[in-house]
Amino acid sequence: ATTFAGQKLVLFGLAGSGLATVHALKAGGADVIAWDDSPESAERARGLGITVSDPREADWSGFSALVLSPGVPLTHPEPHWTVELAKAAGIPIIGDIEIFCRERAAVAPDAPFVAITGTNGKSTTTALIAHVLAQAGYDVQMGGNIGTAILLLEPPSRERIHVVELSTFQIDLTPSLKPSVGILLNLTPDHLDRHGTMEAYAAIKERVVASADLAIVGVDDAHCRAIAGRRTGPMVRVHVAGHGEAEAELIAREGRVTEGEGAVLADLDGIGSLRGAHNWQNAAVAAAAVRAFGVEGESLAAALKSFPGLAHRMEQVGRRGRVLFVNDSKATNADSTEKALTAFRDVHWIVGGKAKEGGIVGLAPLFDRVAHAYLIGASSAAFAQTLDGRVPFTLCETLDIATAKAAEAAAASEAAEPVVLLSPACASYDQFRNFEIRGDRFRELVKALG
Ligand code: ADP
Repeated sequence: ATTFAGQKLVLFGLAGSGLATVHALKAGGADVIAWDDSPESAERARGLGITVSDPREADWSGFSALVLSPGVPLTHPEPHWTVELAKAAGIPIIGDIEIFCRERAAVAPDAPFVAITGTNGKSTTTALIAHVLAQAGYDVQMGGNIGTAILLLEPPSRERIHVVELSTFQIDLTPSLKPSVGILLNLTPDHLDRHGTMEAYAAIKERVVASADLAIVGVDDAHCRAIAGRRTGPMVRVHVAGHGEAEAELIAREGRVTEGEGAVLADLDGIGSLRGAHNWQNAAVAAAAVRAFGVEGESLAAALKSFPGLAHRMEQVGRRGRVLFVNDSKATNADSTEKALTAFRDVHWIVGGKAKEGGIVGLAPLFDRVAHAYLIGASSAAFAQTLDGRVPFTLCETLDIATAKAAEAAAASEAAEPVVLLSPACASYDQFRNFEIRGDRFRELVKALG
């Protein structure tokens, strides 16, 4: 990234994408001072030849930007100390997506850049768009909040399409965001612990829509409808029939995506990886996005059919006799778990972890789908209270115990197709470093059942 050549920057956060960012900036001729509060991360970076020194001892008047890794709080619950220092020095606070956007603006402002955000469905939609475009023969670079850090992808050019998932943190650190296609799927209260009010959260997400050449907006919730209402410029609104009342250019109804009430753009019937109304929203939005690149008709239909789906999202990890095992470890809130419970009956439900506000109270209307619940993690006492008298449950403490008990009970059940479902409705970090490790462990346990 040569847009920072000759400049001095300070970077905080060397755990994930931070290392890639330092390398990209240095390769572009910038001078970077990096820091991380974790001595292990700092040491590893030193080993890679990165200048690691405490920015509290630096002269900030010389820095042209503070580069933050995603997740380092800008405002909520309180600003990180580097943010305070940057504000005092009057320098911009940016992230790796911003570096990409400035580079793109400098070297290839027409380079196709699809940015995807929303509360839920980001990864599925990002992967689906990338899959369809790749199947259609495009050079696709997928990354950002999913998979590869953006600065490890090939650089922007007219000949390739960047398909990039953006978290709220990343948008907030990207003042120059201007995607060619900007997608907002939906907005529900999640992550409010990190972003303050719903209004503040929605305002950050709105920037993806407001700044895009073409905006694609899911209009099934009131926040997104309001954002679509404020959009000037080209826009495709996507509505899933039965989810509120909304005007839209594309409508998904019972697995069929149509233009208004007219022509069928995509038929999702029988596509296992795109089951459920939430996936119709993802697929309809993806169809709108790829159409902007001329992909429709037969090539769209074939690509949708071959979409393998994502790991940890309603991933079918095995069958033992009649029992189906589903890994939905990515469901870190009740809203996501609602989708999983809606998709199955006779569920042996492994649930719990670090609970979000409201816990699983909102899932009560789906409790009749649950044969038995197996409680794990820090939320156990609270969830036991919610379930008491409505759903039989067992306190299992760990995922290992829960999987063993659920597998045994499901095998003994009378149901035609009992399901052992890991859909925790909780963050993982009371017991696992992240949801991937939690889901991988479940997959291993299922394999070991023999
Ligand atoms: P994200 O990347 O936004 O977290 P994912 O695609 O990884 O979203 O899906 C996360 C969870 O959210 C999954 O467990 C899935 O059941 C649920 N989900 C997927 N798409 C949607 C959607 N459009 N609306 C609501 N929930 C969804």
